[in-house]
Amino acid sequence: MKILVINAGSSSLKYQLFDMDNETVLAKGLCERIGIDGHLKHTPLVEGKSVFNEEIPMPTHAEAIAAVMDKLTSSEYGVVSSMHEIGAVGHRIVHGGEYFSSSVVITDEVLKLIEACSPFAPLHNPAHITGIKACMEVLGKDVPEVAVFDTSFHQTMPPKAFIYAIPYEYYTEDKVRRYGFHGTSHRYVSARAMDMMGRHDDDLKLITCHMGNGSSICAVKGGKSIDTSMGFTPLVGLPMGTRCGQMDMGAVQYIMHKHNLNIDEMLEILNKKSGVLGVSGVSSDFRDLEAAMAEGNKRAELALDLFHYWVAKTIGGYVAAMNGVDGIVFTAGVGENSAETRKAVCEYLGYLGCAIDDEANSLHGTERFISTPDSRVKLMVVPTNEELVIARDTKALVG
Ligand code: AMP
Repeated sequence: MKILVINAGSSSLKYQLFDMDNETVLAKGLCERIGIDGHLKHTPLVEGKSVFNEEIPMPTHAEAIAAVMDKLTSSEYGVVSSMHEIGAVGHRIVHGGEYFSSSVVITDEVLKLIEACSPFAPLHNPAHITGIKACMEVLGKDVPEVAVFDTSFHQTMPPKAFIYAIPYEYYTEDKVRRYGFHGTSHRYVSARAMDMMGRHDDDLKLITCHMGNGSSICAVKGGKSIDTSMGFTPLVGLPMGTRCGQMDMGAVQYIMHKHNLNIDEMLEILNKKSGVLGVSGVSSDFRDLEAAMAEGNKRAELALDLFHYWVAKTIGGYVAAMNGVDGIVFTAGVGENSAETRKAVCEYLGYLGCAIDDEANSLHGTERFISTPDSRVKLMVVPTNEELVIARDTKALVG
């Protein structure tokens, strides 16, 4: 069965086509500048086919999907002979609110509920809905579509972890609570870690650190999320590439008054100009920060120190929440690639009996243990694969 995985943004659309008979990716690509002019980069991953990287008019997402279909089935760039080989489509959806604790086949009712969650993710959910409707238009309603939510893995959090300490009516009437994000990634890497450790029991305590441009940490007990660092939005928790993480509302109000900013201007700063970019004044990219620090840039060093400190103290909080930890997993762009970050974080964790193996830590790219044999806590690197989870859930629901 071939499954197309779609991640639709407001002006972009990422895709991967999976052959689920052997879980391989046949082709992947990115449409950009949808609604402006349109550009498609399509990369076939089978031999003898060429990469396509050119401008194509894309007034709406439907033209983008049509262009993707055209390339997937063309003799020069294609990997399938006809669109009818695509058995189903899986969509990444950022917000499922409290409606969805697992992936679902998309029906009219499901579409309405995804729409009902749009106020919680105004930049993402409307774009996902546009992507779903574009697929229905181009592929036809007979091809089943599945929604896989970033929030659903965290629906197992207990109320003490998700309720904000504000008047309770804001939860009961307005659904204001902590939801958490990156759930598909935390779910994938925690499941891999359970396999790697050969343990699938309810007592297994894992802490998964998704550290990329956006970062979050999750406490996973017996395979279930019991707490996570992001909240009602993905702005909070750890300091990130450009997002502020934990912040005092009083300081926010003070800055707004002092600099005469309205709430949208302030949120733009907290979302796009803060985090390690804001502190360092150098970059949101950890490679640039590590290079700047090596050249003696003190603010780049401070930004990295601050990031490591927040990761370590969040891990410490989750050790308390679970009364222990058996394994800590690092994933995403920084977690998978930066040996320096993993080492710096683990240096805080000696009190837990975490001992990092420098040689294993310095390797690249592969799923592996990076703890010494006598480390009390297993340390692991697991490359995340959110698209594969979406393809697997889609197959499970429609296959
Ligand atoms: P993601 O959001 O998961 O795609 O991760 C993007 C982040 O990964 C960027 O901030 C990159 O700086 C970071 N990254 C990628 N490769 C490396 C590397 N070799 N060392 C440090 N950071 C890296």
